Amino acid sequence: MQELPSWLIDLFYLVAAALFILGLKGLTRPRTAVRGNITGACGMLLAVVVTLLDHHIIDFRWILLGLAIGTAVGVILALRIQMTAMPQLVALFNGFGGGASALVAGAALIEAISAASQPEAVGLTAANLVATAASGLIGAVTLTGSLVAFAKLQDLISSGATSFPGHQAANALLAAVALGLAAWLVGDPSGSGSYWLLVVVASVLGVSLVLPIGGADMPVVIALLNSYSGLAAAATGFVLSNNVLIISGALVGASGVILTKIMCEAMNRSLFNVLFGVMAPSEEGATADEVYAGKIKSTSAEEVALLFDTARRVMIVPGYGMAVAQAQHAVRDLTKLLESRGCEVLFAIHPVAGRMPGHMNVLLAEADIPYDKLKDLDEANPLFEQTDIALVIGANDVVNPLAQTDPNSPIAGMPILEVGKARTVVVVKRSLSPGFAGIPNPLFAADNTLMLFGDGQAAVRELIAALKEL
Ligand code: NDP
Repeated sequence: MQELPSWLIDLFYLVAAALFILGLKGLTRPRTAVRGNITGACGMLLAVVVTLLDHHIIDFRWILLGLAIGTAVGVILALRIQMTAMPQLVALFNGFGGGASALVAGAALIEAISAASQPEAVGLTAANLVATAASGLIGAVTLTGSLVAFAKLQDLISSGATSFPGHQAANALLAAVALGLAAWLVGDPSGSGSYWLLVVVASVLGVSLVLPIGGADMPVVIALLNSYSGLAAAATGFVLSNNVLIISGALVGASGVILTKIMCEAMNRSLFNVLFGVMAPSEEGATADEVYAGKIKSTSAEEVALLFDTARRVMIVPGYGMAVAQAQHAVRDLTKLLESRGCEVLFAIHPVAGRMPGHMNVLLAEADIPYDKLKDLDEANPLFEQTDIALVIGANDVVNPLAQTDPNSPIAGMPILEVGKARTVVVVKRSLSPGFAGIPNPLFAADNTLMLFGDGQAAVRELIAALKEL
């Protein structure tokens, strides 16, 4: 086959990079998000096709086999995955991206070593070797760190913080050993042993770094690992001298860092504190019995319907439980019914509600709830004082006042939706079980709170039926 000239390849790569950037821009607004997604995907298709046509690729058979297996696994995963398990899937994708980068950089190293006539004549520059070491180190940390994040979110291992005395010192030692191995590789590239040793140590480091991070900090870790997977890909781009990989890796790396910053701010935690501060329910915290005993007021759909009958403004506060119950369509029907009765309905969206950034926005968009009804934390909080009913559906941590009152709580300092300021709070959930952070919630025992126990979707449907009866 005729080889494509390198200027043409670079031109196509430039077009692909422009499509990535336009795609990202499209993703910043709900109205243009679908188009943005398609634009980015077209950029990726162009980049893949051009890379395959590049003269380095000689044998398509393995590539086609890899493509077929990867496509099959990807399609099955994407079709079968529950919406509630999306964060785990993102964690896996990040991990695979990191692992692929480490493997490709290792393969390029082996190729360079075996192409050299003598061990001293390995044709790799120092910059190239630094990039190889970076791919191995960051890629392996991303792979195993993401697998631990996956296992935590999938409840394969305890989602709490797991650490041992001297854990941070052990991590520092592992990091130092990994850097030492990287320096060895750069100084003596005659064999690939140092590289694979580096990958093994970095893999252990990845596990050890994520294990002590628990509970409510997982969103930040996933965003950070996303950024790492981009950095590993960019480093591999330098190894392969592939411009589009450098650009796309840098875009993922940068957007991951920005997302990490947004998540940290949403939880009022510094990144250092997330990564190195052990986060677990504090021993001194009040027990569920102390918080709830004798103070819980259970209600019924009929009673809540009576309250809705006179309400002028209702703020709906969705959380992870709405995703579990798949209650978004029922919530849309309730919204329409209330609006037809002259009641204003708004939605208060916490940035870390659910289990992934934007989780609630995606669910509500799926149910065609207009975007202008969604109020973020800063907009929503001042509105609660003029709200008749705050209807909390499957949210727990994001409305837990302990974040403001208990400095020892694992969510201390996290900005919350101040639903307690509404005239009445109705909380829909199945029991008094805690949320992701594993702590009781005094909101459920507050004077103006009524608990409507039940599955989110069933409870909202009962509420609709009761309202129609009035
Ligand atoms: P929480 O995890 O705090 O609480 C969810 C509540 O939903 C539970 O208390 C549960 O109570 C209830 N629930 C579960 N299933 C149902 C159902 N079928 N019907 C009704 N209720 C149900 O959720 P929040 O959204 O308030 O907070 C998110 C938490 O997750 C935060 O701590 C956040 O830091 C963390 N997190 C966020 C991520 C993100 O990016 N958004 C990613 C990972 C973690 P019960 O069992 O009694 O029904």
